[in-house]
Amino acid sequence: MNDSLEKINTVVANGNSREAILQAADILRSGGLVAFPTETVYGLGADACSKKAAEKIYSAKGRPSDNPLIVHIADVKAVYELAACVPPKAEMLMEAFWPGPLTIILPKKELVPNETTGGLDTVALRMPSHPAALEMIRESGLYIAAPSANTSGRPSPTEAAHVLDDLKGKVDMILDGGAVGIGIESTIVDLTGECPTILRPGFITKQMLEHIIGEVKMDAALEINDSSIRPKAPGMKYTHYAPKGELTIVEASSADDSGMNVANKINELVREKQQSGCGVAVIATSEHAHLYKCQNVLVVGDGTKGETIAAKLYSTLRKCDELSVDYIFSEAFSTGALGSAIMNRLLKAAGQRVIKI
Ligand code: AMP
Ligand code: MG
Repeated sequence: MNDSLEKINTVVANGNSREAILQAADILRSGGLVAFPTETVYGLGADACSKKAAEKIYSAKGRPSDNPLIVHIADVKAVYELAACVPPKAEMLMEAFWPGPLTIILPKKELVPNETTGGLDTVALRMPSHPAALEMIRESGLYIAAPSANTSGRPSPTEAAHVLDDLKGKVDMILDGGAVGIGIESTIVDLTGECPTILRPGFITKQMLEHIIGEVKMDAALEINDSSIRPKAPGMKYTHYAPKGELTIVEASSADDSGMNVANKINELVREKQQSGCGVAVIATSEHAHLYKCQNVLVVGDGTKGETIAAKLYSTLRKCDELSVDYIFSEAFSTGALGSAIMNRLLKAAGQRVIKI
């Protein structure tokens, strides 16, 4: 396989083709990199038990080496091979949510190299539900380390074209499975402490987890906006998901059902920026889009259906890059079960810039 510094010929193949999946499995076995669809976002896969393969992932993404990788598996048996201890609550969550968008953190066995876990003595494990991902992992006979298949810091990829934009010439193959279903990364829950703790919110909510295993905490760094609190998931401390233009969220501090207060403020900001010759875009729900006076109003989804917003959030942020705008103003999307997962990503994309009105 190619060395990480050399330019690689990136093959884009149909993720529904058995032949392409077998070829992907071959590439993985020879230490190469394959981007593949999952139900959350596209992953950038490599052999999780090979130090060299893990290093290739970090180098292709430009990812800091202290940011550990999630290991993707296709079989529950793998958990007992990779984790030093599997508590009953882990088994209950695996039973309830796998295959699916839930990652669990457990103490690691020696087999998992430190390069894969960013030097931690724990390992993050997930069984994805996307059929192409499961088939590829099974056929490879490996455990597959896979972060999101974007350049570090950029919005995660929800279509094969996003992966190609970021990683062309840096990965051996991209399995194209079309647009993904969920659109934001898995929920991460740490099961190594006294009380299960959510380190990254996602499609599987705190309430859904508590329904299965009782009390679940949120990592303090998720709840308090204080940069002195170190998140337990090393990756959560980095700027993420950011479009190239400067993104600001405008949020109503009291009920603003018509969306008028937020729209008035955003329209004022848009006017100001346009007067100084800057390109501007607005991100809004389908219900509120008509309220905005801006050339580029991007509809991210239906405000009453969080899943539609999650599915289009990253492609909307990438669309802002295509428009080459200097400033982006977005509504907040904090209501509903997915509100905290969506706002966690949007706030990071905005570098925590929020105007409360
Ligand atoms: P991504 O690969 O882009 O989905 O990001 C993976 C996330 O999982 C990052 O925020 C990592 O810091 C986090 N993660 C992976 N392994 C561990 C671990 N062993 N302990 C805590 N967080 C982890
Ligand atoms: Mg990522």
